[in-house]
Amino acid sequence: MTLRLAVVALATLLAAPLAARQQAAATLIITNGIVITVDGDRRILNPGAVAINGANIVAVGSPAAIAARYTSADTIDATGKVVMPGLINTHTHAAMVMFRGLGNDLNLMDWLQKYIFPAEAKTVSPEFVRVGTRLALLEMIESGTTTFADMYYFEEEVARVTKAAGMRGVLGQTVIEFPVPDAKTPADALARAEAFAKEFDHDELITPSLAPHSVYTLDAATLTAVSALARKLMIPIQIHLAETQAEIALSQERHKMRPVALLESLNFWTPTTLAAHGVWITDDEVAVLRRRDVGVSNNPESNMKLSSGTAPVINYRKAGVNVGIGTDGAASNNDLDMFEAMRQAAFQQKLVTMDPTAITAAEALEMGTLGGARALGRGQRLGSLEPGKLADVIIVSMSRPRQQPLFDAVSQIVYASRGDDVETTIVNGKVLMRDRTVLTLDAVRVLSDARKAADLVRQAVQ
Ligand SMILES: [Zn+2]
Repeated sequence: MTLRLAVVALATLLAAPLAARQQAAATLIITNGIVITVDGDRRILNPGAVAINGANIVAVGSPAAIAARYTSADTIDATGKVVMPGLINTHTHAAMVMFRGLGNDLNLMDWLQKYIFPAEAKTVSPEFVRVGTRLALLEMIESGTTTFADMYYFEEEVARVTKAAGMRGVLGQTVIEFPVPDAKTPADALARAEAFAKEFDHDELITPSLAPHSVYTLDAATLTAVSALARKLMIPIQIHLAETQAEIALSQERHKMRPVALLESLNFWTPTTLAAHGVWITDDEVAVLRRRDVGVSNNPESNMKLSSGTAPVINYRKAGVNVGIGTDGAASNNDLDMFEAMRQAAFQQKLVTMDPTAITAAEALEMGTLGGARALGRGQRLGSLEPGKLADVIIVSMSRPRQQPLFDAVSQIVYASRGDDVETTIVNGKVLMRDRTVLTLDAVRVLSDARKAADLVRQAVQ
């Protein structure tokens, strides 16, 4: 061996482990995709790559830069596909998928009082909630939702199956004044909520929450008690707020005040309060919600289907209120597809304002991701692809005829894509669906259980 060759060999020997040492370990790298970050600069990297380690995003950059810095046992090639933050459904009642298609074409009060409340009274049990929630989880994972905010009964059961499926949830135990399947009185519901909050305290995926149904189904004393318990437990509140004109009238009749004024008078707002709907809200009330840092969930499909009205989303955004998007329960939508919800959120505002720029595709996407995270008080850790955020990521196929040609990825996601286009869903760094196969739920079993439970619903409404 010549001296020169020996030096080269020695340099190679030294360089290899040195390079390996400079590369950090990642658990998953997604590379070569069109990465829509929803970061502060709203960067779109084409091509881009995302490195995930454990539950966290550790880097976002060009494929070459990520390959130089990270090694990973698992890599997903996302060539030609969109990589984006998972969608955040800020308002739903997951198990209500079991009432999908029941009592259509009615207004909210008729639909609730004639169909939903009576059917729930006869059917809702822990097992029914587990079966329904699993069906909803399957639908949500398949359509790219990675966090959902829920309001229902037996919320500890919702939490257990949500955690088992690897999904993230802000799960609200319902408090309502009449006897319901999991609580005879509001006091029972509050006790149940406290036990639930303790069971899932500091859980990685589950954020326990309190869900006082509305000002028209609760008295002032109970609303105050809910607020006090939420403060004591330091958990978020979710409440239906100003959803319909009928709610405003009921509030005036019962409390002699509009819903926002009532809650303001009770000092109801806590550090994290999410108002679902917020449709019939005046400019002055927008200012109150801003001042109290209340997040709003806009549910355009439910609001249109039940003819509830149109939320003043433009006013909220101008005032600096955090607005996310929700599907509402499947029974008033009738699906949990957040792509369609984003599209309708944009279209509804364009229509009522007669201004096509009212909500742009980028703004709808922001509401479906980061806006929702902020509305739920989780903006620091969720809603965008950035180092330090939790790894809730989806990969969306762009190969369908309706997605071609591809000039503008954001427009294509909001205006032309559907939940079915999602190929891979990742929550907390864990792959829940890969290439359309859900890994954390047995889809065949979930569907057959739901079909069986549907017989209970059929009997209940006969
Ligand atoms: Zn609702």
